[in-house]
Amino acid sequence: MASGILTIDLGALAANYRALAAMNAGETAAVVKADGYGLGAALVAQTLAEAGARRFFVATAEEGAAIRKALGDGPEIGVFSGHMEGDTRLIQQAHLTPMLNSAAQLERHRAALPDHPFGIQLDTGMNRLGMEPSDWAASREHAGTATLLMSHLACADEPAHPQNAAQLAAFREMTSGIDTPKSLAATGGTLLGPDYHFDLTRPGVGLYGGHPFANAQPVVRLSLPVIQIRDVAPGETVGYGASYTANGPRKIATLSGGYADGLIRAMSSRATLWAGDTPCLMIGRVSMDLLSVDVSDCATPPDHLDILGPHQTVDQLADAAGTIGYEILTSLGPRYTRKVIAP
Ligand SMILES: *Cc1c(COP(=O)(O)O)cnc(C)c1O
Repeated sequence: MASGILTIDLGALAANYRALAAMNAGETAAVVKADGYGLGAALVAQTLAEAGARRFFVATAEEGAAIRKALGDGPEIGVFSGHMEGDTRLIQQAHLTPMLNSAAQLERHRAALPDHPFGIQLDTGMNRLGMEPSDWAASREHAGTATLLMSHLACADEPAHPQNAAQLAAFREMTSGIDTPKSLAATGGTLLGPDYHFDLTRPGVGLYGGHPFANAQPVVRLSLPVIQIRDVAPGETVGYGASYTANGPRKIATLSGGYADGLIRAMSSRATLWAGDTPCLMIGRVSMDLLSVDVSDCATPPDHLDILGPHQTVDQLADAAGTIGYEILTSLGPRYTRKVIAP
């Protein structure tokens, strides 16, 4: 079998949820957008529901409908993109709770589904989603009927960044005197401490073992099979563009896995893979389905190497490729054979 094996540790996922939930006195939701950060939305949502999550968030109404199918009635499913044109039927049928981002979305929602629950997203300085103070002044009269008032921090993974305190102050000011439940913190905000917790935290990446939740248990392991190993003589090149030239006799393994599997080209010649405890450097360019690794240091020829696992987290691999763990996770491709470790 040439497909890589992606192992998802559901026990670690549940443990990360419980650890993040134990950090705050209020409720802890689970963000399961982008197919549960690439790990499989239904599987992830069901595991987190069993671990105690009662509220879930997704990016789009379509994602919300898939989560509703997986979870059945009961849990609240919030949609960050709010109530977009064309979403009304899905919002109603899957009983989703849109986080309304503008006066226009609020008007659309109230006209289409007058008695249907909604939350409101406020922009406290990130300038991405949510009502600005001027929209908010005109819409604030509806705050009491919302199920949640929320905002999102731009720099929560940098605790010393002054924008954290500035956004906290703006959120407090925009919501002062309103009794509706409030939420400001994702994973990073949860770690910033109780001032940022309000009634509900909304971690995503920390659940899946990612930075900035340093104490997270790793959730994924990715093992790639070796298709063949060849001896390369000094001066020979490997792969597209002949970008690698052997400076001595080398043993080069060709592995099944490439950029079509989310192993992005930026990893070329920079990432490390592991044959058991032996680190092996990726050499040459990542191609669509294949990549090359120097296995000269291995005592016995390996039949597979780990690119994610006990020796390398998603964030360490991301660092090597100049990106972030979120991008590595959400790029994990559909070709892997997925195995789960039950909680
Ligand atoms: C993605 C997202 C989250 C979760 O963020 P993490 O950094 O993954 O914990 C929370 N809230 C909003 C609005 C988001 O877009």
